[in-house]
Amino acid sequence: MPKALWENLEMIALPTKDGTAGVLILESGDTLYATSYELHMVSRDSTGRAKPVICDFCKTWQSGNRAGNITFSTERHSLSSVSFLCCLDLRCSLHIRNMTQTGKISRSQLREDISEEHRIERLKNSINMLAYRIKLKPIIVSNKENTK
Ligand SMILES: [Zn+2]
Repeated sequence: MPKALWENLEMIALPTKDGTAGVLILESGDTLYATSYELHMVSRDSTGRAKPVICDFCKTWQSGNRAGNITFSTERHSLSSVSFLCCLDLRCSLHIRNMTQTGKISRSQLREDISEEHRIERLKNSINMLAYRIKLKPIIVSNKENTK
């Protein structure tokens, strides 16, 4: 993958064909993580409409049909798991950089006074929080001195 692309991505989802599970690659600072996940649309209420959510990772506002619920196992071979609300497409890195229509819609819905750098910082914090919660071990810790 071209390096320029990586620099704009903190989260890369590698979904299965039906999109209900996959592997998530997470980058925060110099650390790279990978974890499997399960993904579902948020459940609908009695009127059949799914409520909008705000993504727990990137804080993007998502309308009901774009809102997901992601589940991670907290330990290998264990049944304990933790779930978060999320962007169903898991393209959080692009939404916070205004590279998607979704990101622009979210900005008009939430009217946050926060810069793009802060949104990126917040996403990285969320990734660190997630890595801690589900006890992820880094797969790569790179030395930025060598990569620049
Ligand atoms: Zn998101």
